[in-house]
Amino acid sequence: MSDPYTDVQLIDKKGLRLDGRKLDELRPIKIEVGVLKRADGSCYLEWGENKVIVGVYGPREVHPRHMQNPMRGIVQARYNMVSFSVSERKRPGPDRRSSEISKLLSEALEHVVLTDRFPRTTVDVYIEVVQASAGTRCAGLTAASVALADAGIPMRDLIASVASGKVGDKLVLDLGQKEDNFGQADVPFAMVGRTGEVVLLQMDGHLTIEEFDTIMEMNRKASLEVYEIQKAALQDRYSSFTEEGEAEPDAPEEEKKDEKKEKKSSPPPKADKEPKDAKESKEPKDAKKPEDAKKPKEPKDAKESKEPKDAKKPEEPKEPKDAKEEPKAKGEKAPVPEEMVEEAIPEKDDKGPAGGDE
Ligand code: ADP
Repeated sequence: MSDPYTDVQLIDKKGLRLDGRKLDELRPIKIEVGVLKRADGSCYLEWGENKVIVGVYGPREVHPRHMQNPMRGIVQARYNMVSFSVSERKRPGPDRRSSEISKLLSEALEHVVLTDRFPRTTVDVYIEVVQASAGTRCAGLTAASVALADAGIPMRDLIASVASGKVGDKLVLDLGQKEDNFGQADVPFAMVGRTGEVVLLQMDGHLTIEEFDTIMEMNRKASLEVYEIQKAALQDRYSSFTEEGEAEPDAPEEEKKDEKKEKKSSPPPKADKEPKDAKESKEPKDAKKPEDAKKPKEPKDAKESKEPKDAKKPEEPKEPKDAKEEPKAKGEKAPVPEEMVEEAIPEKDDKGPAGGDE
């Protein structure tokens, strides 16, 4: 069936799409957490042919200072498509489209981040689209909320996003590149996983009210699938540390060796558990449950793997600390005595490259 407005055949006689998907089928999604060593939180996401990498920094001081809000923090997302992300070289730098998307994504993320926990600060979310193939704002938002969780930013929940639309007079889920370009309508959508609150909704093209309702239902259902993938990615990331007792997979060999030395030389102190708990508290509740239940055997390893992030904390404003405590306040975790956490932090420093000799 060809699109009535173009001659492009987007859906074949069997009702399959150009890439062989059914009308209500998502493209394959792969999420990897904690891919950037120097970011406080990060995520790499592949969604069909989209490739997005997100780095989160903060909470940190807002510049320029007049942007500071004494009552709450701000979330600043910056969406960027790199020059080689599309078939023809994209002119680098911000443009109207990326500014608009950055604003939309910032507002969506602010909706779930508990910004009142870290007033006067900013959480910066850098969303880099390295390969674009339609639905990049949804992919970016999905990855950004995972990266925020990885950074330990207190959040109500993750945001899951997807775009559906109308192609060749059919309503289809998760538009591909050609469907986006030659389709009749495009409805990017994002919602809070658990509550279903809509935090992003746009529409390009024309739909009847019934079609719109159907598309919303398709988007909701698919967002829940995306939400499960997000949670699974976070679980994978953190459960592997405790179960395998391995250093961070991305960590350079030298670091891994240092960590092994540490393990041999010093017995795991009691406080080792705390950083782990503290780290767990950073993550969405759902994402951590299975690990909590395990009461892992290698708290030491877990601690080591979290070092780089935790080690930074002393430099950061006090607010992140509060932020960490927030989920505990909800009764999600057993409260960790303050002094035990502090006790654990210097130990982490010991394991850093500078302190490894000690
Ligand atoms: P989204 O990526 O969120 O669907 P759009 O609907 O604006 O956003 O863009 C659809 C697709 O069009 C993008 O994913 C990308 O593949 C392509 N595209 C967007 N901007 C450009 C550009 N400046 N040059 C080339 N292709 C672009």
